[in-house]
Amino acid sequence: MTPMRIALIAHDKKKDAIVALASEFAALLREHTLMGTGTTGGRLQSEVGLNVERLLSGPLGGDLQIGSRLAMGEVDCVIFLRDPMTAQPHEPDISALLRACDVHNVPCATNVATARFLLDDLARR
Ligand code: PGA
Repeated sequence: MTPMRIALIAHDKKKDAIVALASEFAALLREHTLMGTGTTGGRLQSEVGLNVERLLSGPLGGDLQIGSRLAMGEVDCVIFLRDPMTAQPHEPDISALLRACDVHNVPCATNVATARFLLDDLARR
């Protein structure tokens, strides 16, 4: 199987959820190429032991970096656990990334239930 390039992002109140999800799917995720925003990527490295390329923190441009790569065809899927209950200072960046996913038809899971579908599908390939 060709490794997929997977971007992982979670807002602060969703970071425990992405750590739990990544722990559950750690064996699968290790077969792929991972990148993440700064804090999310750091937690996935230190708490799950995954090899994640850490980009800038989301509020400092990390979402935009992922969006830029995605627009260049360098990201195959996105797991972006958003916090729908808290206003984010970088809301325009978040919208830009989600729009880029739609423009380029790249799968983007924004909650744990959808992320499970995506990862379960990946596991069957
Ligand atoms: P972070 O960025 O992983 O650096 O916290 C995520 C975000 O808040 O967009």
